[in-house]
Amino acid sequence: MELTALALLAGAWFSVRYAWWRPPVDYRFPRILMYHMIAPPRRGARFNGLRVRPSAFERQLCWLRQQGWQSFTVSELLDAGQQVPEKAFAITFDDGYEDNLTAALPLLRKYGCKATLYLVVDRFDRDWSVQRKAHHGGGELRREPKLSDAQVRELLESGHFELGSHTMTHANFAHLGNTAVARELQDSKRELEQRFDVAIDSFAYPFGIYRPELGELVQQAGYRSALTTREGIDPPAQRKPMELRRIKVSGRDSLFAFKLRMRGGRRGW
Ligand SMILES: [Zn+2]
Repeated sequence: MELTALALLAGAWFSVRYAWWRPPVDYRFPRILMYHMIAPPRRGARFNGLRVRPSAFERQLCWLRQQGWQSFTVSELLDAGQQVPEKAFAITFDDGYEDNLTAALPLLRKYGCKATLYLVVDRFDRDWSVQRKAHHGGGELRREPKLSDAQVRELLESGHFELGSHTMTHANFAHLGNTAVARELQDSKRELEQRFDVAIDSFAYPFGIYRPELGELVQQAGYRSALTTREGIDPPAQRKPMELRRIKVSGRDSLFAFKLRMRGGRRGW
């Protein structure tokens, strides 16, 4: 009797956590996946959610290919508009961690996938977690190895990467006025275009901080798309290119949770 109650309770918890009964979001709506690092978790680390193990990343790519998902860069998805095929997805990496080259690129190659990298221009010796919450000091993200400019070139030359901007300094837009925001947007776009000789058409909001007037500033700075960290899947016909939603891929999630996020845009509740 008690066991039955326990099983029911476990079942209810599972259902609430994963919301598996929700119908899938239309597969004609492309999914944009958000990653940071492809790395094993660190003992006692605060940001292990940002670390997806290489083995987990490989299982995800393998599953996507087996299920017939097709990989695009963010700009390719936007350009395709409503002509995008069913089961289209874009992989994004924020910030510019070195493992994007050492761990992610070999797997992207193996599974024929592309990605868009949202790079912070001045990314060395910065602890951007503190800019979000003062108590998040400790330097964990500052110590994490970042891509050098030469490594970024390697990613671009591989043909598997598109480059986007993630500001000059990983600025917290909640604390900046419009003039300073506009400067971050313009300077980073120009700097990345000059350094890497590519067009920078896409932008990702640091910390996912978004408000409608920011979208206008991003557009005025010459970007064609901008990504938030709001979870979800945008229908191409209704999407707002300056506030695109993404699917968070967490290092704490199982493959099962990943599949559910691909279905519904979120893990559950
Ligand atoms: Zn970031």
